[in-house]
Amino acid sequence: MSDGCCGTTAPLEAEQPMSRIEAGELPVVVIGAGPVGLAAAGNLAERGLDFLVLEAGEQVAASVAQWGHVRVFSPWRFNIDAAAKRLLEADGWSEPDPEWLPTGAELITDYLAPLAKLFGDKVRLSTKVTAISRLGYDRVRTSGREDVPFLIRLDGGEELPARAIIDASGTYFTPNVLGASGLPAYGEGEAGELVDHALPDVLGADREIYEGKHTLVVGAGHSAATTLLALAQLDDTQITWAIRAGSASRTYGGGAADALPARGALGTRLRAHVDSGRIQLLTGFFAHSVTRRGDQVSVVSRDPSGAEQSVTVDRIVAATGYRPDHSIASELRLDLDPILGSTRQLAPLIDPNQHSCGTVPAHGVDELAHPEPGYYAVGVKSYGRAPTFLMATGYEQVRSVVAAIAGDWEAARDVQLDLPETGVCSSNLAEAQEQRVGLATGISGGLLATPLPLATVGASSDGGGCCG
Ligand SMILES: Cc1cc2nc3c(=O)[nH]c(=O)nc-3n(C[C@H](O)[C@H](O)[C@H](O)COP(=O)(O)OP(=O)(O)OC[C@H]3O[C@@H](n4cnc5c(N)ncnc54)[C@H](O)[C@@H]3O)c2cc1C
Repeated sequence: MSDGCCGTTAPLEAEQPMSRIEAGELPVVVIGAGPVGLAAAGNLAERGLDFLVLEAGEQVAASVAQWGHVRVFSPWRFNIDAAAKRLLEADGWSEPDPEWLPTGAELITDYLAPLAKLFGDKVRLSTKVTAISRLGYDRVRTSGREDVPFLIRLDGGEELPARAIIDASGTYFTPNVLGASGLPAYGEGEAGELVDHALPDVLGADREIYEGKHTLVVGAGHSAATTLLALAQLDDTQITWAIRAGSASRTYGGGAADALPARGALGTRLRAHVDSGRIQLLTGFFAHSVTRRGDQVSVVSRDPSGAEQSVTVDRIVAATGYRPDHSIASELRLDLDPILGSTRQLAPLIDPNQHSCGTVPAHGVDELAHPEPGYYAVGVKSYGRAPTFLMATGYEQVRSVVAAIAGDWEAARDVQLDLPETGVCSSNLAEAQEQRVGLATGISGGLLATPLPLATVGASSDGGGCCG
């Protein structure tokens, strides 16, 4: 029988797979050994389901390791998954102080590395997933599709079958561009090593690169704020901060009123540096072109009215957030929200125009399901471009998804979440008057926002983002 179209002698739907492997006997494959991937493993282990975690990096939580020098703003009590905690405690582990704010490095040494150790060779390091499909099925073929295993292709050329896929591969390695309209600024690619993506270790390993230099930080999220405060501690360093918004008020956040004190303090300190002139703030900055001149780089901003401003610096830190890369799943049937790149069901619940991290409602398998049964993107990847993600929401996602894979639909649908609300992100009259579209930039997981001064929108859209 032909697979073609005009010459097909029978409908594609009538075809049967040549051979069938019982998908139920195969492991659930988790892509990525970050906090959420390992939490998925913990839930799978507790439910006695066979699983395999594939991690591209040479260590667990390779993305978190990139920002190991950064202290998070959510204390330990929000950063540890319940199933993981039970497994670790059964192994003699002691929970760190629930009120302590760990660094990324502490998250790994005190929690994620011991957790991964429990799973032994079920966590495979240096194993990058390059593509996912269904065994013998491309995206078009339907009949019997849900009965065949997934096929996972690895960068070493190996292929693995899987019963279900929990994709917790994050967004850290696909940062947003510098260009203000989502397109790369002209010349952005040629600036080479003079552009760093978010969160260089300014006070540690990268100190020499930044000391005595003029640095431009672009973005208004938590990572921009963190980098700016670190740069301000270096002597003889000139700092320029560029944001699209007309003012940095939302980045400064809720100050002492903020529900997460670490986040509130960050904004307060940042404002003090701007007020004192230590940090020069450029507002209404829409990066348009980047030109390298020897060891320096000039950035021209062109705002929507065509007005230009420019700055010449030694280094740029592009703290403009992240976007998901769904290309590994391009042979699967995904139903993606056209704005955020999350599932369509999830999008309204996490929309940074409406929500802060603290106001995202509990959600689970029903909001994460795609038309492709058995494939779930979870963790920060599940949020697409929305910067409203917190580890705690990811932990509830994987608890629900794993329960569904186990057939326990009652538990899968009993989603619950207890998060700190943010005083930063909720809509208020002042924001409405600013007439901004509250698309956030910056890191996922931060709690600050960059509303865009582009257009006046309905009152429901000016709530501003939060976590980035
Ligand atoms: C600087 C910073 C601070 C943050 N602070 C907080 C905070 O205070 N509180 C909070 O709740 N959240 C915070 N977040 C947000 C979020 O919780 C973290 O980003 C968290 O690491 C997301 O976990 P994850 O498991 O979804 O993804 P990641 O931690 O990004 O893990 C993804 C893993 O997948 C691996 N991977 C990627 N591609 C592949 C592939 N193709 N094949 C195999 N493996 C792959 C990566 O190497 C990585 O180890 C912060 C984020 C950042 C960047």
